[in-house]
Formats: sequence, structure tokens, C-alpha cells
Amino acid sequence: MSQLPARVDVAIVGAGLAGLAAARHLHAKSFNVAVLEAQDDVGGRVRTDIVDGFRLDRGFQILLTAYPELKRQVDLDALDLHNFDPGALVMMRGRSYAVTDPFRAPRGVLSTVRAPIGNIADKARIALLRARTLRGDPRELLRGQDLPTVVALRRAGFSEKVINRFFRPLFGGIQLDPSLTTSRRMFDIIFRSLGEGDAAVPRLGMAALPRQMADRLPGLVHPNTKVASIDGRTVVTIDGRRIEARAVVIATELPAARNLVALPDRVSRSAGAVYFAADSAPTDSRLVILDGTGKGPVLNAAVMSNVAASYAPPGKHLVVAALPQVIDGDLESMARDQLRTWWGPQVDSWRHLRTYRIAHAGVEQRPPFSPKRNIALGNGIFVCGDHRDTGSLQGALFSGRRCGELVAGALA
Ligand SMILES: Cc1cc2nc3c(=O)[nH]c(=O)nc-3n(C[C@H](O)[C@H](O)[C@H](O)COP(=O)(O)OP(=O)(O)OC[C@H]3O[C@@H](n4cnc5c(N)ncnc54)[C@H](O)[C@@H]3O)c2cc1C
Repeated sequence: MSQLPARVDVAIVGAGLAGLAAARHLHAKSFNVAVLEAQDDVGGRVRTDIVDGFRLDRGFQILLTAYPELKRQVDLDALDLHNFDPGALVMMRGRSYAVTDPFRAPRGVLSTVRAPIGNIADKARIALLRARTLRGDPRELLRGQDLPTVVALRRAGFSEKVINRFFRPLFGGIQLDPSLTTSRRMFDIIFRSLGEGDAAVPRLGMAALPRQMADRLPGLVHPNTKVASIDGRTVVTIDGRRIEARAVVIATELPAARNLVALPDRVSRSAGAVYFAADSAPTDSRLVILDGTGKGPVLNAAVMSNVAASYAPPGKHLVVAALPQVIDGDLESMARDQLRTWWGPQVDSWRHLRTYRIAHAGVEQRPPFSPKRNIALGNGIFVCGDHRDTGSLQGALFSGRRCGELVAGALA
């Protein structure tokens, strides 16, 4: 058990990306901070387990290098990022079709045009969508008219075919929302980020991201320290230890924050993921793999060892199958049954490594969606986390910085 200070300027509850970002800002401004984390390590929803030499991110996660807060707060070079190829591999009726971004992978144009994911007009509209979302200040995208993504796509003229074969598996997977009812504003922001930068994973797994941030806060992060209550501006741990603070930042996920302070409830998005070890890879593609039927339950998958060899021991391969909004039942069998329709009986020889069932992966972001929710609760209590901004690495980092700046201003 780590030694807790009796008094600090700011006590931060939660060492996910938001809590670490808040701590980073306040520490840089010379405030005395303590970050209290319930789990045995930092990262919150961004953790990586090592199982038999395989690196398993807790749920299929991707870092989008275009996220401005990553560039601002993280040394991306030090993470040694390994990129997915831009585009997707769409699986349909036992065949695969590469759909690439023609502006970034021009050699893929022909296969993209031929891919049976929609008609030529759909493909032209994707190019128009790309141009529209890449134009101008991204904040404008958060101000546009808001609609459920699926309605916005239909209004833009996209066919049901391209919605089901491309948008649903891709964005249903990224936003953990197969129904595509998430705000069109979030869709636009993510579409822009995909066109603007790379989708990548750090060589050592996604956990390398919070690890780097925590390493810059030496001695200030206290794992295995769960906060039970907040008494005025005194934080009380479950074993009765107390820290007096001039300000308290609650940087936990929303359900945990609601145990500590009064905040409105929001519906959670859940996520399932199944990891398999394979002796040979079912494809050498470094693209994200999509379920071209759009029916799931596996909406996307990847051969992680093709993207970053460090995710598997030498000579082995790591396959992840992501099941957004599916956490009940025999996920391993569901994944095997579906992946067998893509890659045949080799799937039965794969060794199951681990199944993740994440009940709270994020909050629903239905229209009308406006980020930048209130973070000052009064009496020196502040709250941050992805539920205060956008549900993403970007949202968590931005939220933490925004909160750190507000607290620094209040204490100055
Ligand atoms: C499966 C999955 C896939 C995802 N994919 C992507 C993706 O591809 N791209 C992307 O941008 N985003 C993705 N996300 C979302 C992203 O991971 C989150 O938005 C972000 O990590 C949230 O960070 P946070 O700091 O707000 O919260 P959290 O990471 O949840 O951190 C909260 C911390 O508070 C701690 N805590 C809770 N209660 C207490 C207490 N009482 N006392 C002390 N500590 C406490 C928790 O243990 C935790 O460490 C994904 C999330 C999941 C789960």
C-alpha cells in the first residue's frame, strides 16, 4: 500500500487518461497533486494484458494519430506506433474485398471500385464526405445540424447496401453502436480523423499510452487506492484513509462518478472482444477487417500481429474479434462461428486466449449531442472524463486538460 499524503492542492480520483491529463497540467503548473486509482495500474479502459507472450488490449482499441490532444499531450514517437493500412478489408460470402482510401493508397483504387459494398454513386459520395469533413475547422463539425448517423447517411443519398456493408461494421465498431444512432457530429469527427491521420497501436500495446503519461508523474499516482466517498474537499479511501485537498477532481468513468457525486445518468455502451492465437495468419492484410453483412455479432476484427509483430510471440499470430454491444453468452463460440464463414476450418485450430466483456465501454452519444459538459460542481469539486466531452481517447485527454486548466485558474 502506498503512502498517501495527508494534504495536497488537488486530489484526483482515477488514473485513466482524463485523470492523468488533469494531473499532467496541474503538476506542470507546480500544484501538489495525488492521483488515486482503484485498480492495480493506471490506464482505466486503456489497459493491455500479457497472456502467454501475446499482448491483449482490453477490447479492440485503435489510436487515431489525428487526435489533436494526442499530439499535444503525448510523445507519439516514443510509443513506436505501428499503423494499420488506411481502409478496410470487407468480408462477404467467404471472400474479402479491400476498400482503401484512394487519396492515401492510390494503388487500391481498382479493388475499391470493384468491391461489392455499394454502387458507384455510393463510392463517389464517400469521396465527397471525405472532402466535406476534411475541410476547415473540425469544431465546425460539432456545430452542424445533428441527426442519428444512419439518418444522416440516408439523407446524403447513401444506399442501404453501403450503409450495411461498410458504414455499419466500421462505425458500429468504432462507436460501439451497431444501430448507428450515434450523433452525426461524432461520425463526422471520426470520419475526418480517419482521413487525416493513421490508425495505429503502440508497439507495447495500448497501455503504453497511459504508462507514458504516468511515468511523467513520479510518485504522484497511487494504485490500489479506491475512493469510497468525498467529504467536503476531503477524499476518503475504502480503508478509511483521508486526504484533505483544496480541490477534488473526479476523473472516473460515469457510473463510478455517480457513486461519489450527483450527476445525471447516461446509457452505457458495452463491448465484447475475443482473442485467438493462431499458428498462421488467416490473411496477411494490415487492414481493419469488417463484417460485410453488417449483422455481426463480430462487426470488426484484425490480425494484430500483422500490424505490430510485437503483439505475438515469434512465429505466432494474434487475431482479435470485436463484438460491439455484445457481452452476454458464449462469445468465443459466436466469434468462431462467424470467423469460420470468413476463413474456413482453420479457425477451429486457433487457441482461445481470452474474452473481454466490458459493461461500460462508454456512454451513448445520441443527437442532439454537444460535448463540453459542465465540469465544475461547486465547492472545489470538479469532474472530468470522456463522459464530459467526446467518448474517445481524444475526449478523455481533452476533458482532463480542460479540467486541469479550470482547477489551476480557481486555485491561483
Ligand atoms: C473496448 C473499448 C474500445 C475502445 N476503442 C476506442 C478506440 O478505438 N479509440 C478511442 O479513441 N477510444 C476508444 N475507447 C474509448 C476510450 O478508451 C475511453 O473513452 C477513454 O479511455 C476514457 O478515459 P477516462 O479517463 O475518461 O475513463 P477511464 O479510462 O474509465 O478511467 C477512469 C479511472 O477511474 C478509476 N476509478 C473508478 N472508480 C474509482 C474510485 N472509486 N476510486 C479510485 N479510482 C476509481 C478506474 O479504475 C479508472 O482507472 C474504447 C473503449 C473501450 C472500453
